[in-house]
Amino acid sequence: MIQLKNIKKSFHDQEVLRGINLTVKKGEIVVILGPSGSGKTTFLRCVNFLEKPNEGEVIIDNFSIDCKKPNKKDILALRKRTAMVFQHYNLFKHKTVLENVMEGLIIVQKLPKETAKKKSLEVLEKVGLIEKRDAYPSQLSGGQQQRVGIARALALNPEVILFDEPTSALDPELVGEVLEVIKKIANEGITMIVVTHEMGFARDVSNHVVFMDQGIIVEEGHPAVIFTNPKEERTKRFLKRIT
Ligand code: ADP
Repeated sequence: MIQLKNIKKSFHDQEVLRGINLTVKKGEIVVILGPSGSGKTTFLRCVNFLEKPNEGEVIIDNFSIDCKKPNKKDILALRKRTAMVFQHYNLFKHKTVLENVMEGLIIVQKLPKETAKKKSLEVLEKVGLIEKRDAYPSQLSGGQQQRVGIARALALNPEVILFDEPTSALDPELVGEVLEVIKKIANEGITMIVVTHEMGFARDVSNHVVFMDQGIIVEEGHPAVIFTNPKEERTKRFLKRIT
């Protein structure tokens, strides 16, 4: 469903992504693991052109974007099919929970207000925040704010949701509620790419683990294989350190 071919990205003269190839099938829950600084977040942001890759190709559905000469129309079409959940939630502080979720539906998708509201209430129900619909972000815990971030992504009906370390800004006691919501959505068959350090989540929920180091994919496969029988030395060392 999504194919990323030979994605390269440099910042100034630092080559952060050195040719990433990844195929994500429909309904797959892909988890990206790797040491800090290995390029995981940059790669995720390249998938929907929040960062523009210097080279490579992004293929989604039946169209392809050449990263060297992307056109605006294709980038918009790509963004329509993706939604991002950020580490720091990125909610509008002066809008209520409901308004935060409705925003993208009204501004980007141009839905009528009533339709946007109905859809937003549905997803707020799903993430367990319907009673907080009129609260402002500052009145919510970090876990609740992140659940709003997830509701906002879900409301857009994307083909793939990109999660950028969705729990790493949270106090440990709030991580569980957010992972539970992500699990629930995963079980509904939405395609996801998740950058995370949560090994339990990677093991239990994902069906495709990607291990990155120094801007390349070192190893990938099913979690049952990667976690119990990694082939590459670098993967072994990383898993030993972190688990
Ligand atoms: P990870 O998510 O694996 O921790 P990142 O993708 O965040 O890794 O970062 C990889 C490298 O790219 C780091 O050395 C980081 O400093 C650098 N980097 C990331 N974003 C930028 C940017 N906008 N400008 C310059 N350097 C960046």
